[in-house]
Amino acid sequence: MKYLGLKIGVILILFFSIAYVTLATEKGRPYYEKKGYVLWEIKTEEKVIALTFDDGPDQTYTTQILDLLAKYDAKATFFVIGERAEKYPDLIYKLDSEGHEIANHTYTHPHSITPEKLEKELKKTNEVIHDITGTYPLLYRPVGGNYNDNIINTAVKNGYKVIMWSWHQDTEDWKRPGVNRIVTKVMSGAAPGNIVLFHDAGGDRSQTVQALEKILPELQKQGYSFVTVSELLDRTSVEVIKK
Ligand SMILES: [Zn+2]
Repeated sequence: MKYLGLKIGVILILFFSIAYVTLATEKGRPYYEKKGYVLWEIKTEEKVIALTFDDGPDQTYTTQILDLLAKYDAKATFFVIGERAEKYPDLIYKLDSEGHEIANHTYTHPHSITPEKLEKELKKTNEVIHDITGTYPLLYRPVGGNYNDNIINTAVKNGYKVIMWSWHQDTEDWKRPGVNRIVTKVMSGAAPGNIVLFHDAGGDRSQTVQALEKILPELQKQGYSFVTVSELLDRTSVEVIKK
């Protein structure tokens, strides 16, 4: 019995430590959304959806996805990893010349990062992309979607907008849950202004490609068109931070 207080104390400390880490974003979504620093989705009546692809480019899957997007006259946003962009400049060039948006997903894809390192990774990636396309990306997506005040402030200070995704549109395609699960996830919640999260690299993404083969015609049939995140931003009244 005499250790009960101690045990409760330890449990409480653990609980609050976990809560603190989880809630490391002190200012929270409403603040950042209103400021226009971070975007999850937009409110609109227009039937537009932004498809986004992380972790590429990849020689096999990015190419297959590009063919599908072209078939449905769809534009998308690719959050590329700098070192992969450097390795596959032709794919970056192709993405750009086919009218898709290229955005920054760090240089080495580290799962935790200091503000100093993030600043370097963002800059390095942007230089790689600029060398190929002549354009500096303005959008950045944190690795794993993990953000906190430090990450957001660093990105904003360097002229970026942080792009997340609609919480109900996380396909979790990287877990390879099966084509139907991916399709159902997107179709059941599809709404104007959504941002959908896919991955075009980092492993076998054939399920993502097969799911898109179903999702694209189905959403098109429902009257949706597919725009880049920047185009989506142009349709919102929320003030956008631009360089
Ligand atoms: Zn990623």
